[in-house]
Amino acid sequence: MVIVMKSKATQDQINNVEKLLKDLGLGVHISVGSERTIIGVIGDKRKLANTPLEIMPGVERLVPIVEPFKLVGKTFKPESSIINIKGIEVGGRSLAIIAGPCAVESEEQIMETAIFLKSQGVQFLRGGAYKPRTSPYSFQGLGEEGLKLLAQVRKETGLLIVSEVVSHDSLEKAMEYVDVVQIGARNMQNFDLLQRVGRSKMPVILKRGLSSNIEEWLNAAEYIMSEGNYNIILCERGIRTFETHTRNTLDLSSVPIIKETSHLPIIVDPSHGTGKWNLVTPMARAGIAAGADGLMIEVHPNPQVALSDGNQSLNFQSFSTLMDEIRKIAPILKRELPI
Ligand code: PEP
Ligand code: MN
Repeated sequence: MVIVMKSKATQDQINNVEKLLKDLGLGVHISVGSERTIIGVIGDKRKLANTPLEIMPGVERLVPIVEPFKLVGKTFKPESSIINIKGIEVGGRSLAIIAGPCAVESEEQIMETAIFLKSQGVQFLRGGAYKPRTSPYSFQGLGEEGLKLLAQVRKETGLLIVSEVVSHDSLEKAMEYVDVVQIGARNMQNFDLLQRVGRSKMPVILKRGLSSNIEEWLNAAEYIMSEGNYNIILCERGIRTFETHTRNTLDLSSVPIIKETSHLPIIVDPSHGTGKWNLVTPMARAGIAAGADGLMIEVHPNPQVALSDGNQSLNFQSFSTLMDEIRKIAPILKRELPI
C-alpha cells in the first residue's frame, strides 16, 4: 500500500505518519516527488486497523498496490528516477555510455581501452574481474588483481568504474575499488546477493536473467530496493529463445514496458544481446530509439585475441562509429551525449 500525502503536507505531518508506521513495525519507504510525497508501506497491513492513518493531517489517500513488485513500480513513485553516481546522472536527459572489455586482462589492455573511451566521451568503464563463465575451464577473470587495475585506471583517467560481483566475497572487495556494481544475468535471482547489494547502498546495474520475464526481473530489483538501496539501473541483455543466429534475443520491447511500469532507468547491452560485433551498432541504435537511458558496450583493443567475448566486442574504430551514430539519433529523442 502507498500513502499519498497532500501536495501541501508539511514535513511534520510526513514525520508523524512515518512514526506511526514505524511504531507498528512496518517497513517505510519515502519517495519525495516534485508535487507530493508518497510513502510506501511494507508489512502486514492488518496492523493498520484501528489507527487514525486515513484521517491524519496531510494524508490525501491510501492506495493499494496491485502489482507483485511495489517499490520499483510507478504507483509508489510516478516520476522517473535519476540515479546520481558521483555527479553523473543516469536516467536524465544525458545518455549513459558504459563501455569496456568483457574482462580486465592486463594493465596495458585496460589502460589503453580506458584512454580511448575517455576520448570518446564515455563516462563509465566496464571490465569484469570475476567472470561467471559457462565453462569452468574458460578464463575466470583476474579477481582482486583486476579490481586493483580498474581502480588505478580510475585514478589516472577519472572514469567511473563498473564491475560484476558474483558473491558476498567479491561484493566486499568490489566495494573498495568500484563505483557501480553489476549483477549479471546468471545471478539475477541470487536473492541473498541481491539483499546484500541492497544493504550496501552501492549503485547497481541489474541485468535481466537469461530466461527471466519482466515481472521476475522487477521482483529481483524489488529485493534490492526493499533493503533500502534505491540506486538501481536495469539492463536488458537479451533472453534465451529458439533463435540460433544470435547468442540471445535482445528483447527491446522490455524498454518501453519498463518505462510504463517502473520508475527505474534502463540501459541496453547489445553486445551480450546479440553475441556478434556486427549486430552491436544497429541494435544500440534501436535500443536508444526504443527509449533506453544508455548503453553497455563491450570494447577491446584487439577483439581477435580477447580472453572472453571477442566475437561480440567492438574495436576502437567500430566503437567510434557507434558513438557518431548515437550522437545523431539522440536529439530526435530529446536526449544528448556528454560530448
Ligand atoms: C558481462 O557483462 O560481461 C556479462 C557476463 O553479462 P551477462 O551477465 O549479461 O551475461
Ligand atoms: Mn562479456
